[in-house]
Amino acid sequence: MAPRERNSLLCPNCRKLISASEKVCPYCGMKNPSSFMNRDFLGSLIRNPYDLIKIIIGVNVAFYLLTLILNPSAVGMSGNPLSMLSPSSNSLLLMGATGVIPIDRFGAWWTLVSASYLHGGVLHILFNMIAFRQISPLVIHEFGLHRFFVIYTGTGIAGFALSYAAGVPFTIGASASICGLIGAILYYGKSRGGSFGTALYKQVLGWLVFIGIFGFLVPGINNWAHGGGALAGVGLAFLLGYNDKKTENHWHRYLSMACIGLTVIVLLWSVVRALYYSF
Ligand SMILES: [Zn+2]
Repeated sequence: MAPRERNSLLCPNCRKLISASEKVCPYCGMKNPSSFMNRDFLGSLIRNPYDLIKIIIGVNVAFYLLTLILNPSAVGMSGNPLSMLSPSSNSLLLMGATGVIPIDRFGAWWTLVSASYLHGGVLHILFNMIAFRQISPLVIHEFGLHRFFVIYTGTGIAGFALSYAAGVPFTIGASASICGLIGAILYYGKSRGGSFGTALYKQVLGWLVFIGIFGFLVPGINNWAHGGGALAGVGLAFLLGYNDKKTENHWHRYLSMACIGLTVIVLLWSVVRALYYSF
C-alpha cells in the first residue's frame, strides 16, 4: 500500500491515495473525501480488509480458551468427539450464551451478540472457523469490509432472535453468522447471474442443503439459528447491495461502526462479568 503523506489520504470510498485538499475524489467522484463525516475509521485501523478475518478468528479462540479456563475442573473430557474439551454450561452462561434461559430468566438480551463468539467444544470451534475462513474472503471481496461486518453481526443477532422466539433454551456458536454469510453469497450469486454467479449460487445452495440435512440428523444443532441467519443474510445482502451494483457509502460505514461498537462493548462486558463472578 502506498505510504501516507501529511497532506494525502486514502479515499474512504475507493481507497486510492488522494490529496487531502481534493473536494471530489478524482478516481471515484466521492464528494468531500477528507471530511470528518466521511472518515473510514475501520479502514484506517485495518489496512488489509482480510485481516478482519484473522481478528474475528482470534477473538473466537480467545473466548473459547477463556470459557475453559474459567472452570477447568468441569471441562468435558468425554469420549464423544462432539463434546470433547467442552466448557462447563456455567462458564458459557457467564460469558454470554443465549436462548430462553439467559434472556427470560436474566434479561440478558446482550447475549444475542455474545453467543456468536462462544463454542461448545474443540470440534465445534474448529468446524465453524474452517467454514468462516472459507466463506469470508468472498463476502469481503463482493460486499466490502463494512458490509461484511454488518452482515456478520446482524445475521448472528437475527438467527439467535429467531431461535429464542422458537423457544430454544440455551445456545451458542458462530454458525448463525456463518449461515448469514452463506445467505449473502446465495443472494449475490442469484442476483449477479452469469456463469460465475450461477455456479456460486448452486455451490452455496448445496452447502445450505448439507447444513440443513446435517442439522436434522445430528441432535443438538440449532436449526432455527442456522435458518434465521441464512434468511437474514439474504435479506441484508438485498438491502445493503454489493460492489458490482453499489460501492460502499457512508451509511454502510456508520452501520459497521455501530456493529463494531456494539460487539466490542458486549464482549468486554461478558469478559468483565465472567471474571467478576468467577474470582
Ligand atoms: Zn475515491
